[in-house]
This record gives sequence, C-alpha cells and structure tokens, in this order.
Amino acid sequence: MRKTSEPQQDAAAESWYVLDPDDRITGIGGSGWPAGSEAYPGTRIYDHVAGHFTRQFLKDFLQQARSRGSTRQCYRCDSPVAKRLMEMSAVMQEGETLRVAHRMLGARALPFAVHFHEVPRASARLLRCSNCNRLRGIRGDVWREPEDGLQAGQTALVVHTVCPECRSHIGMRRQSAIFRIRDIR
Ligand SMILES: [Zn+2]
Repeated sequence: MRKTSEPQQDAAAESWYVLDPDDRITGIGGSGWPAGSEAYPGTRIYDHVAGHFTRQFLKDFLQQARSRGSTRQCYRCDSPVAKRLMEMSAVMQEGETLRVAHRMLGARALPFAVHFHEVPRASARLLRCSNCNRLRGIRGDVWREPEDGLQAGQTALVVHTVCPECRSHIGMRRQSAIFRIRDIR
C-alpha cells in the first residue's frame, strides 16, 4: 500500500492519543477530533467506543501492542458519502504508555450517501462491523458492503459488533478482500 505515488488525502494528517497502562487517555493531538474531545484526557478509551465486541477488539489490539512493542491494523471508517480506509497503529513508549495513531490511507466516494443510527439490539435490523464497515442482517449470515445492503436515502438501524473475519485478524496489516485498498484508491 505504500508503493502508490500520491495519496488522495493528506496522509500526513493523523490523529493520535496516548494511553497509560490502565488504558486511560493522557493526551490527544493531531487533526480530525470531534468537538468535545478536549475533555477526553483522564477518561478511559473504552468510554468512547460503541459496542461490546468493538471494545473487546480494541482491548485485544492494545494488548497485542503491549506484548509486541507495536502493532498496526487496517480498518474502515466511512463517512456518509465516502469509503475511507484507515490505519491504526500503536507503539509502546517510555513509562509503559502507548501511543495510538489513526491516519487515512485512501478514500472513494460511495454511489449514494449512507446513514447509520446506533440503536438497542432489540430494534436493530442490521449488525455493522466496526472494523470493516460491512453489514449483516440480524438473522443473516452474509457480510456485505454498505452499498450492497442498503438503498439510497435509507437510514440503517444498526448495532455495532466486529465480524468473525476481522476478529480473527487483529494486528494483521493485510490487504484482504474486505478492505480492497486498490478499489478504494
Ligand atoms: Zn469486519
């Protein structure tokens, strides 16, 4: 993914935060933080992550970084109008702190805008993977890209989870079918 010449987005722009050994945020920096994030220091990172499986996935990722010294992972963080392929990296620093950074690797417009709304599980129609952004019907078994599972103008009522494929590939910086970086660039 590094051999292509010019990224479409500002690849240097990253957002980062530092965690103490208890996964409490001690500082944040870089770009792309939502309003109100200046209040994050002192809170635990899991306070800002929706969904039990997503929190567990992040916990496993951070644990892996602590045991290896560093790790990284591709994931999708789409906006309503674009697929955005991101990379999350975590590096151990002095004092047993962990520096976690997010940066965009590429983006591509969606054929139509897609909107998601997190709801309690009982009212959800779809599961949404927090890592690859694919969707699955609550009773279904196939994970699909948002544009394959939704219609224009629809607001999808979702519960966030992590799909089995993503769960089995924590810390693997791979260019698999689910991320299709070449399609996104
Ligand atoms: Zn997934």
